[in-house]
Amino acid sequence: MNFQLDDTHNEVIDLAQRFTEKRIIPGIREADRNASFDKSIIEGMGEIGLMGLCFPEKYGGGGTDYISLGLACEELEYGDTSARVVLSVHIGLAALPIFTWGTEAQKEKYLPRMTSGRMVGAFGLTEPNAGSDVVGLQTTAEKTSDGYILNGEKMWISLSDAADVFLIFAWTDQEKKRDRDHSGITGFIVERSFGGVETGDIKGKLGVRAGKTGFISMSDTPVPEENIIGGLGDGFKIAMFCLDQGRYTVAAGSTGLIRACHDACVTYSNTRTTFKRPIGRHQLVKDMIAKMYAGYEISRNLYLKAGWMKNKGIANTRATSLAKWIACEHAEAAASDAVQVHGAYGFSDEYPVERFYRNAKGASIYEGTREVQKLIQADYSLGYRKDKEGRTELPTYPFDE
Ligand SMILES: Cc1cc2nc3c(=O)[nH]c(=O)nc-3n(C[C@H](O)[C@H](O)[C@H](O)COP(=O)(O)OP(=O)(O)OC[C@H]3O[C@@H](n4cnc5c(N)ncnc54)[C@H](O)[C@@H]3O)c2cc1C
Repeated sequence: MNFQLDDTHNEVIDLAQRFTEKRIIPGIREADRNASFDKSIIEGMGEIGLMGLCFPEKYGGGGTDYISLGLACEELEYGDTSARVVLSVHIGLAALPIFTWGTEAQKEKYLPRMTSGRMVGAFGLTEPNAGSDVVGLQTTAEKTSDGYILNGEKMWISLSDAADVFLIFAWTDQEKKRDRDHSGITGFIVERSFGGVETGDIKGKLGVRAGKTGFISMSDTPVPEENIIGGLGDGFKIAMFCLDQGRYTVAAGSTGLIRACHDACVTYSNTRTTFKRPIGRHQLVKDMIAKMYAGYEISRNLYLKAGWMKNKGIANTRATSLAKWIACEHAEAAASDAVQVHGAYGFSDEYPVERFYRNAKGASIYEGTREVQKLIQADYSLGYRKDKEGRTELPTYPFDE
C-alpha cells in the first residue's frame, strides 16, 4: 500500500491552487452575490490544461491520471463550488464518457476540442418530472432515414447555457418506454449547432450562484446516426457510468469545501476573542474544528481510494458512491459548524462560510441524492446489487497512446 502522491499529483495541486487563488477567490463574493457566471474562468481552465487533465496526449490531454482529476477538483472547490462543477460536468459527465464509450471517430472529432476547452460539454439526464427515477424521463428520439429527431426538455442542467455539446438521454423504443424497460434508452452526442436546441438559466438558486444551471429544450432536433454513444439501448448503462465519474469529482470537491471551512475557522478562532481568550481556546469550538478535520481526512481517503480504483480499471460504483455520500454529509456538517464558529459574522457574506453553507447543500442532491447513495450501499450489502462481469470501466492508467 502506498499513500504517497507522486510529483505529477503535486504539480496538479500546485497548478489548481494557483488558479483558484488568482482567478476564483478574488471575485467570488461579487459573482455569487450577483449570480453572475464568468465564462472566462472556463477559458482560463482550458489554457492551463485543466479541461483535459486526465486524457491521453493523442487527444490533446495532459496525460495525467484520475487521481489528478480528484486533486484538481478539491483545489477548485476550496475556492468555490461553481469552479469545480465545470470539471465535474465537462470532464466527468461529458468528455470521459466519450473517451470510454465513443467510437474512434467520435473521440477524434470531439476530444481534442474538449480537452483544450474550446468545446464545453454538459450532461442532460434530469427532466422536470424525472430525477432519481431516471426511467421516468420523457424525451424521445424518433428514427429517420439518416438519424434521429429528438424532442424533450431537460432540467437542472449544469452549464446548459455555456455548453456547445450535450450528452442527451432519450427513449428510442416507445414500447419499452411504456414498460419502463431501461434498455429502450439511448445516449446521443448533441451539438448546440444541430438546430432546435434552446437553453436557459434557472434563477433564484440557493447555491452555486456563480455557476450556470438551467434547462435544455429540444424541438425536432436532428441528430445523425453516428452521434449515438455506445449502442442503441445502452443509454441507461452509460448514464450510470457518467454518474460514477461525476460523483467522484463531487466527492473530491466536497473534500475541498470541508478544508475551506476548516481553514476559515482556524483563522477566525485564533483572532476572535470572548471572555478574554481566543475562541479557539473554548472546548466546544475545538469540538467543531476537530470534526471538520476528521471529516476532511475521511472524505479525502475515500475519494483517493476511488481514484486509485479508477486508475486500475477496478469496478468502483460502490466506492465512488460511498465517497460522494460521506464527503457531502461531512461538507454539510462542516459548513453548518463553520457558520456557527463565526457567530453573527458567519451569517453575512463578509466571510465566505455562508456561501460554503449554501453550496454544500446542493451536492447532497445532484449526481444522485443522499438517499440514492444510501440505497446503493445497502443494496450492495444485501446482495440486491452486484457489479456485472465485464462491465465497462474507465480506460486504465497509464494510457496506451
Ligand atoms: C445545482 C444542480 C445541478 C444539477 N446538474 C445536473 C446536470 O448537470 N445534469 C443532470 O442531468 N441533472 C442535474 N441536476 C439534477 C439532479 O441530478 C437531480 O436533482 C437529482 O438527481 C434528484 O432528482 P430530483 O430533483 O428530481 O428529486 P426527486 O427524484 O424527485 O427526489 C425528491 C426526494 O425524494 C427522495 N427520493 C426519491 N426517490 C427515492 C427512493 N426510491 N427512496 C428514497 N428516497 C427517494 C430523494 O432523495 C429526494 O430527497 C442538478 C441539480 C442541481 C440542484
